[in-house]
Amino acid sequence: MGDCLFCKIARKEIPATIVHEDAHCLAFADINPQAPTHVLIIPRQHLADQRALADAPAELMGHLYAAANRVAAAKGLQSFRTVVNTGAGAGQSVFHLHLHLLGGRPMHWPPG
Ligand code: 5GP
Ligand code: ZN
Repeated sequence: MGDCLFCKIARKEIPATIVHEDAHCLAFADINPQAPTHVLIIPRQHLADQRALADAPAELMGHLYAAANRVAAAKGLQSFRTVVNTGAGAGQSVFHLHLHLLGGRPMHWPPG
């Protein structure tokens, strides 16, 4: 989608600190980190949110999680949290599907 922020990052039209990329996804540092490690993993394909996975190959989310595992290992994280916010009411602010990878500090439960 032409005017989508994360599509522009995927096309390298907007700079980001990229920590992993492959044919299907891109991982980059969050601009407003909520933990010492805060990386966003996005599909190259524009999908507005998790519900749009219905229009994507079944293995795509597994691929995003595999990329998150790879980044977590590269960062030496002993524990971490992966989060997908779906819809504004759940905190989603960028409507291109993304997995948050958070680590490097104690995590609390339940999340806010
Ligand atoms: P959401 O609130 O949709 O779950 O997460 C969107 C995330 O994107 C937020 O954590 C926010 O800090 C991050 N973000 C928003 N704009 C940019 C940007 O231009 N560059 C990067 N690297 N992250 C961004
Ligand atoms: Zn997009």
